[in-house]
Amino acid sequence: MIEMMNVSKKYPNGITAVNNISIQINDGEFIYVVGPSGAGKSTFIKMMYREEKATTGRIIVGKFDLMKIKERNVPYLRRHVGVVFQDFKLLPRLTVFENIAYAMEVIGAKPKEINKRVNEVLDLVGLKHRMRMFPNELSGGEQQRVAIARAIVNTPEVLIADEPTGNLDPDTSLEIMHILEKINQRGTTVVMATHNSSIVNQMKHRVVAIENGRIVRDQQEGDYGYED
Ligand code: ADP
Ligand code: ADP
Repeated sequence: MIEMMNVSKKYPNGITAVNNISIQINDGEFIYVVGPSGAGKSTFIKMMYREEKATTGRIIVGKFDLMKIKERNVPYLRRHVGVVFQDFKLLPRLTVFENIAYAMEVIGAKPKEINKRVNEVLDLVGLKHRMRMFPNELSGGEQQRVAIARAIVNTPEVLIADEPTGNLDPDTSLEIMHILEKINQRGTTVVMATHNSSIVNQMKHRVVAIENGRIVRDQQEGDYGYED
């Protein structure tokens, strides 16, 4: 499903954030990406949805060869790879419903289909009762649930989450994790960068540890493995 072969990323400032990484992630896996700040985790996952382009190597995501994909086709990739961020990145002037619907509008879905599917994902994240509210009227956990609903509304095969619980308290973090697990159990591959040791140690999945731009550990049902 996702394959990286000898992938490196050197930024224009000369920093090599990812250094010769090779990894294979199969359909339906749930993977935690862990490691110290500045290790290259964000760069590693940004390359999976072509937010950053690798300098060298080969990256395959589903049917896409990310080293060959044309700039104008990146939006097609984004239908297959949903992304969730630590700071939610919702559109403040749109309601919950509209934030999610927008992701379908931009790919040209029909209003009837949008209405049906947005209601489905609102159900999945338990936020139907909030659909007419605006992001600033919601708690952090609710905003993250909206962001997750938006990320999966176009039924991507892969969901990428960059520190999705970074701004949330422990109980709310667990709620968000239960939603990510539900999505994973329905067949979506989940790749999650995190510093949340208690979640990694509690909800066991494959752990990929990155340090200085290299994979230093890749373990099924692994531990977090750091003190922080
Ligand atoms: P992490 O997510 O593990 O904190 P990052 O991938 O954000 O690591 O960063 C890895 C290294 O690359 C760091 O040294 C960081 O300063 C650098 N870096 C990240 N993004 C950029 C960028 N856009 N331009 C230049 N350097 C960057
Ligand atoms: P995080 O820790 O959540 O990964 P960062 O603070 O590392 O976030 O990065 C925030 C943004 O700044 C990212 O878009 C990243 O690419 C960019 N960035 C990080 N480090 C650098 C850097 N040294 N030079 C330029 N841009 C950077």
